[in-house]
Amino acid sequence: MPSAHTVMGEIPVNKLGITFPHEHVVLAWGAARSDMADAYNPKALTDTVCADLGPAVKNHKLATIVDAGPPELGRDVEVQRMVSQRLGINIIAATGHYKVGGGGIPLVWQFQDIEVIEEHFVEEITKGVGPNKVKCGVIKLASSDDFTNPAEEKIFRAGARAAKRTGCPIITHSDPTGWAVTNVGKKQLDIILSEGVDPSKVMLGHIDGTPNLNYLLELVKRGCYVAFDRIGGRGVVPDEGRAGLVGALCVTGYANHVLLSMDHQGVWLPKKAPMIAAAGKYFSYLQEKFVPMLRQGGVKERDIDQMLVGNPQNLLGF
Ligand SMILES: [Zn+2]
Repeated sequence: MPSAHTVMGEIPVNKLGITFPHEHVVLAWGAARSDMADAYNPKALTDTVCADLGPAVKNHKLATIVDAGPPELGRDVEVQRMVSQRLGINIIAATGHYKVGGGGIPLVWQFQDIEVIEEHFVEEITKGVGPNKVKCGVIKLASSDDFTNPAEEKIFRAGARAAKRTGCPIITHSDPTGWAVTNVGKKQLDIILSEGVDPSKVMLGHIDGTPNLNYLLELVKRGCYVAFDRIGGRGVVPDEGRAGLVGALCVTGYANHVLLSMDHQGVWLPKKAPMIAAAGKYFSYLQEKFVPMLRQGGVKERDIDQMLVGNPQNLLGF
């Protein structure tokens, strides 16, 4: 059986349970951590995250989250480990990069050859990160709206090659600025698959910013996963619209290509952006509010289980 690579080590995928594949334990943009180094308190951050995440674990059997933050978004695998140990939740860390326009791909990487970047990703997956050598279990790739930045394509190709070499899954950030309907996800998939990656190891993220069923069907028919991973109010599509699209994908027989998550942040340093704070999300939201919407819309329990438990196992094992 394939393993999921968590911050506490490898586990068989059938131990993942209910899984949200795009969340954040600590989100700290750019230099937030280094600029506030004196105030950066991992123990206090762990307390804050656990207060939010704990009820979802205890009351809703949330068993695994993927922390979708690459290094430049403040990835802290040691805080991830402390949260994992305290709550008994599995956490999967990410290698990869965020989009250039969002403060991603530090210059040091923009100027490297694809082969060097690929090797770095492979090392973070196979040898690990930090004092405890935490091995990353996903590759996060992100592109701007129009995907014209050459550094982003380079990172996508390096990530795809690292995925092909290691079997590690790819998760992406595909939302267009302003939430216009574009085909960014399709462009991402074209590049990833052109490098020979198995489409069942690819999750196109933030696809719920593209409320077009035909477009979603075009993507899932190519064998990848689409993630409705901003559940909880962000974007032009309200949750009722998200639930309708998920229901439509289930009715058309594609529940086995859909993943559900919130892109929630346990901690955002120095403090959450007003838009994020106003959304008022919390880790239990998906199961307390969104899953009932799916049921009301006629989505079967079998399909809900498939999206929350079965699909993450298939995506995250390698
Ligand atoms: Zn995110």
